[in-house]
Amino acid sequence: MTRHGTEEEFELYVRGRLPQAQVTELEEHLLTCPACLRQVEEAERFVAAMREALQDEVKVEPAASRPRLPVFASAFRSRFAMAAMAIVLIAVVAGAFVYLRSGAHLAPVATIELTAVRGEMTEVEPARGFDLKLTDVPAGSFRVEVVDAVGSVEWEANAASRVGGMEVRVSRTLPSGAHFVRLYSAAGAMVHEYGFRVR
Ligand SMILES: [Zn+2]
Repeated sequence: MTRHGTEEEFELYVRGRLPQAQVTELEEHLLTCPACLRQVEEAERFVAAMREALQDEVKVEPAASRPRLPVFASAFRSRFAMAAMAIVLIAVVAGAFVYLRSGAHLAPVATIELTAVRGEMTEVEPARGFDLKLTDVPAGSFRVEVVDAVGSVEWEANAASRVGGMEVRVSRTLPSGAHFVRLYSAAGAMVHEYGFRVR
């Protein structure tokens, strides 16, 4: 064969469906044509990926029941399209799962300004971290605790207040629901409590 092979011929060839006369021709050509050889290798990877995706759906038909070429080619194409769709779908689902698990969809840091005044709890969107701006804090150093609705400590740190309040960064995600920020003095007395809610 002096001409290059076609995409269809490569597909048929790697699936063992190319008529023997053409196989001989193509193999002779492949010996001298690295471009076609690359395409054959590509077709091999293609078909292998398709088989994997379809698993049992693709069964090698016995030679006797081979449909004629044009019919087969279109069947191959529709099967291939199905396989390609399956691969894309799996990738999308897996990707979404990884994305949700990683928290990559969350805003990096949410800023919450909290006052110790009782009332409606500030509500924030979920985030990978929270900058808490606490007002009404007397001067001094405090232990800061973030606890959940049942009082389990979710995060803690030591921080000092400045004029006008105190800023702490809670560098973790918090589950949706109510959270309380508690300030303790060095003596262990609770100085202030703030509440907020993650949506
Ligand atoms: Zn060629």
